[in-house]
Amino acid sequence: MRCMDFSNRFLIMPALSHRTENFTDSVIRRMTRVSLRCNAVNLSQGFPDFAPPAPLLTRLAETASENVHQYSITWGAKNFREALAAKQTHFMGHPVDPEGEIVVTCGSTEAMMAAMMSVVNPGDKVAVFSPFYENYGADAILSGAEPIYVPLRPPEFLFDPRELENAFRQGAKALILCNPSNPCGKVFTRKELECIAALVEKYDAFVITDEVYEHIVYAPYEHTYFASLPGMWDRTLSCSSLSKTYSITGWRLGYVISSPRIIETVKKVHDFLTVGAPAPLQEAAVTGLRFGDDYYRDLQGLYTRKRDMFLAGLDAIGLPHTIPDGAYYILVDISEFGYASDLEFCEALAEKVGVGAVPGSSFFRENVNSYMRLHFAKREETLQAALERLAKIRERMR
Ligand code: GLN
Repeated sequence: MRCMDFSNRFLIMPALSHRTENFTDSVIRRMTRVSLRCNAVNLSQGFPDFAPPAPLLTRLAETASENVHQYSITWGAKNFREALAAKQTHFMGHPVDPEGEIVVTCGSTEAMMAAMMSVVNPGDKVAVFSPFYENYGADAILSGAEPIYVPLRPPEFLFDPRELENAFRQGAKALILCNPSNPCGKVFTRKELECIAALVEKYDAFVITDEVYEHIVYAPYEHTYFASLPGMWDRTLSCSSLSKTYSITGWRLGYVISSPRIIETVKKVHDFLTVGAPAPLQEAAVTGLRFGDDYYRDLQGLYTRKRDMFLAGLDAIGLPHTIPDGAYYILVDISEFGYASDLEFCEALAEKVGVGAVPGSSFFRENVNSYMRLHFAKREETLQAALERLAKIRERMR
C-alpha cells in the first residue's frame, strides 16, 4: 500500500487488519462532532446535559483523598460488586452472587464486546434484531461473527417468530437483545420474551442482552429481565451500565451478569481487554447503587415528563414520529423533505436548523432512509431550544 508520510514522501507500508476495513467510525458519535462544529443543539448521541445525582458527586470528591487510585480487582471492586449484586437481585428477582456472577467493565460497550468474545468463535452466526444499536455490527465484525438480521417491523416494531426461528435454524449461536430498545423504543413484552426463550432452549443458544435503559420505561410498560425467565439464567449474558441510570455516561461503568461458568470466561476476556474499570469511579458509584426505590421512580417520572413535553412539541410542528415505550429515542419521519440520503439530511439539519440528529440508516439493516433519530435526555430548556429551531425545519430544509 502507498501512503504519504508527513514530509510528503511515498512510503511502502503493510496493510492494516482486514477486520477494521469493514466498518466506519460510529455515525452516532460522529454526529456529536458535527453538532459541536455547527453549534447545534445536540440531540444525536444519547447522553444527558444535566448533572448526576448530587450524592454521587460528593462521594466522587471524597474519593480523591482516599486510597482508591490503583487497580481494583480486575473483575470489579468488591464494594461495587456487592452493592450491584444487591440492587440487581432486587430488580431482576433472581439472586446475583457478587463473587461469581459479575464482571465490572468499562461501560456496557466493553460488556457487550467481552460477552460476544466469550461466546462466539470466528465464523459463528449471531442473530440481531433490526433496527439495532450500531455497536453490535462492529462487535460482530471484531469477534468474527456473522450477523443474521431479524426485522422489527414498524410501526409496532414486532418480530415474526418464524423469522427468528429461521435465524436459529441457520445456526445463530446467540441472539443480541436490546431491551428497552435503542433506537425504536420497544419494550419487549413478557410474552415476546417467552417466545424468544422457547426458541433459545430449542436451538440451544445464548442471549446477550443490552439493558442499559432498564430503568427508563414508561407506564404502563414494565421491564422484564430476560435472564429472570425460567431456565434462562444459564443462557443469558446480561449486559448493562450505570451510564443512563445515574447520568454518568463519562464514568464508563458497565457490567456483565451471568452464571458462574460463563462469568469465568468473561473475566478472562475482560482482564486482557481493559484490566478493569476506573477504581475511584466504582467507589463513588456505590452511593448510587444503594439508592432506594424512590430514586428509580423519580427517574421514570423525570423521563416521562421529558418525553411528553418533547413529543407534544414535535406534534405541534407536525413531524410524524414514533412514541417510545422505553429508552429516550424517537424516530422522526423525514420522507417529506425528499433527501436521497438521510446522512446528508442530518448534516444539513445541523448546519441549517441547528439541531443534531442521527441518520436512521445507521440502525437499520434494511434499506431505510426515511428517519432521523432524536433523543430527549436533555434539560427542558435544551429541548425547548431544539423545538424552537425545529419549528423552522420546513422553511430551511425544503
Ligand atoms: N447509546 C447512545 C446512543 O445510542 C450512545 C452511547 C455511546 O456513544 N457509547 O446514542
